[in-house]
Amino acid sequence: MDFDLTEEQKMLKDTVRKFSEKEILPLTEEMDREEKFIEDLWEKAKPLGFLGMGVPTEYGGMLTDYLSFGLMGEELGKVDAGVATVYGAHGLLCANNIARNGTDEQKKKYLPLRASGEKKGCMGLTEPGAGSDATSIRTRAKKQGNEYILNGTKTFISNAPIADIALIYATVDPDLGTGGLCTFIVEKDFPGYQRGRKLSKMGLRSSPTGEIVLEDCHVPEENLLGGIEGKGLKQMFSGLDIE
Ligand SMILES: Cc1cc2nc3c(=O)[nH]c(=O)nc-3n(C[C@H](O)[C@H](O)[C@H](O)COP(=O)(O)OP(=O)(O)OC[C@H]3O[C@@H](n4cnc5c(N)ncnc54)[C@H](O)[C@@H]3O)c2cc1C
Repeated sequence: MDFDLTEEQKMLKDTVRKFSEKEILPLTEEMDREEKFIEDLWEKAKPLGFLGMGVPTEYGGMLTDYLSFGLMGEELGKVDAGVATVYGAHGLLCANNIARNGTDEQKKKYLPLRASGEKKGCMGLTEPGAGSDATSIRTRAKKQGNEYILNGTKTFISNAPIADIALIYATVDPDLGTGGLCTFIVEKDFPGYQRGRKLSKMGLRSSPTGEIVLEDCHVPEENLLGGIEGKGLKQMFSGLDIE
């Protein structure tokens, strides 16, 4: 078996290393001291395609294989693991899950915006009472007409303070156990969606981490990931396995 990197993978590694050393390294101290992500690093990553690493090429991204994604994370992380987390939460936890589990309409609507970096993404699973035991989440989604109404709080969410679109895990019926879990694509401008507190950390300080508060948040039914209720557990673990 050939374990060597392909020419494309070597080129990607080299490009990300040069970008990290030239653009990120001069800002690491400031980002760490002030606990912030410098937006310029988002803008500068756009033309290089890094933000579309989790998105298949037919939707404008540059997803080829997961090893390439890992190589990118490694090169970014050598210089600033927080910046690697910002790009990773956007590209892998959010966009890539839509690419794997979304309907054709969801992919057409949301993936090009992710690939270009026009919209930033995050993934909201963890709650104050549900961490390692992720299947015990309490965020509730109630069907009402052609919408779902979401209520709950997510915490420790990477990119929550800056994200435009969140993948939110919720249950349509706690009595169904894991069979009630669903994933929703929620835009920050949907009524009832709030970026909650930004949280302070001892490490990864350039990666903004925070809460998402959902108070009667109105989500159109077409934003149920994959279009079928009860698929949340499979979708959740398909993402966590890759992470
Ligand atoms: C930097 C950072 C970024 C994050 N980003 C995201 C994100 O983008 N989206 C998101 O949804 N979440 C995110 N999280 C949350 C993360 O997924 C949770 O922290 C994780 O699931 C653990 O949950 P917890 O912190 O509540 O710890 P707990 O579940 O309370 O665990 C605490 C300790 O107890 C141990 N433990 C737990 N259960 C058992 C058991 N049954 N037996 C033995 N030991 C056990 C654990 O191993 C751990 O050491 C992030 C967290 C951090 C720190």
